[in-house]
Amino acid sequence: MFKYQRQFEDFLGQALRPNSKGQTYTFCPFHDDRRQSLSINVASGLWKCHAGCGQGNINILKNRMRRHIRRYL
Ligand SMILES: [Zn+2]
Repeated sequence: MFKYQRQFEDFLGQALRPNSKGQTYTFCPFHDDRRQSLSINVASGLWKCHAGCGQGNINILKNRMRRHIRRYL
């Protein structure tokens, strides 16, 4: 298990299957994503949405998720 895998899985609410370098793709939670635009590295904790929602480390993702969830409650 990579250092940040569990945290990313908790935030995204799904199991991830990273490659040997910790790299994986999944659906971006910040836009209506049908192409798995969110690139994640569960070893480094870095992420990037290739549709332009942003990028950063796991703390930035955490904050973005909180704001995002609040907006839609
Ligand atoms: Zn996105």
